[in-house]
Amino acid sequence: MSTPNPSSTSALRPQSCPVCTQYPGVGAFCSECGVLTSHPTSGDYAAPYLLRLAGELLDLLIFLLLPVWLVWMWSSSRDGQSPAKSLLNLYVISESGQPITPQRMWVRELVIKRLLLGLVGYAFSLLGPIINAGWILMNPDRQCVHDRFVGTLVVVRRDAPKLATERSTFAQSEVRMPPPAPPGPRVAPTLPPTPSATSDQSASETTQSDSPKPARNIPTSPELEALERERTTLSQAEYERRRQALLKELEESA
Ligand SMILES: [Zn+2]
Repeated sequence: MSTPNPSSTSALRPQSCPVCTQYPGVGAFCSECGVLTSHPTSGDYAAPYLLRLAGELLDLLIFLLLPVWLVWMWSSSRDGQSPAKSLLNLYVISESGQPITPQRMWVRELVIKRLLLGLVGYAFSLLGPIINAGWILMNPDRQCVHDRFVGTLVVVRRDAPKLATERSTFAQSEVRMPPPAPPGPRVAPTLPPTPSATSDQSASETTQSDSPKPARNIPTSPELEALERERTTLSQAEYERRRQALLKELEESA
C-alpha cells in the first residue's frame, strides 16, 4: 500500500499547507484554510458547522418521510451524498480523502446514526418525562414536577353525578340562604357586642338559635328573599338592620 492510510496521515502531512502555506495543524483539515490536507487538489474543505447542522435537520425532515428512506439510503450510499448533502454540495469521504464505499455509507447512516445513536437519543428524550412522573413517588401530595411549578394537585372525584346534583340543589337553595344565614349573623353580633351590652338581644337570639326550625321557616318570606338578593348592595349594618326588622315582622305575623 503506497497511499498513506488514515492513521498515518498526520505523520506524512506537509509541514506547510499546500494551499495557504501556513502550518496546517494536526487534523484532517488545515486549521488555517480548512483544505483537506491529505488531498489538497480535490477541492475538499471542512464543512462549516452551520451547514452541517442544516444538512442534518434537512436530512431528518427528509428521513421522516419513511416511504422514501430506502431510496434515500440508496442515493446516499452511491456517492457519499445524502439528498440534503447533495443539495448543499456536501460530501462524505473517508479520512484518507477517498470516496466512501456504499457499505460504509450504509453503516454510517443507517446503523450508527439512525439506529444506534437514534435510540440513545430517544432514551434520553424520555429522561425528562420519567423524572417528572417519578416525582410523584417522592412527593407527599403526589405532585409531578409540573404540579409543583404551578401548585396543582390531581384528585379523583367520587360519584361525580351525585356531586353535580348536590351542586345544583345548593345553587337553587342559595336564594333561600337566609335560613342558614341566621346562625352566621347571630354569632357575629353576639360575639362583638357581648362585652358592652344588648344582653337581652343576644339572649333572645340565643333562644332563636336553640330552635333552628323557626329560623328555617322564616327565610321563605319573599321580603327576606328580596333582601338576600340585594345584600351585596347593602352595608353589613344596613343588611342586619333590615333583616332583623323583617324577622320581627314575620315573628309577629306568625
Ligand atoms: Zn491551509
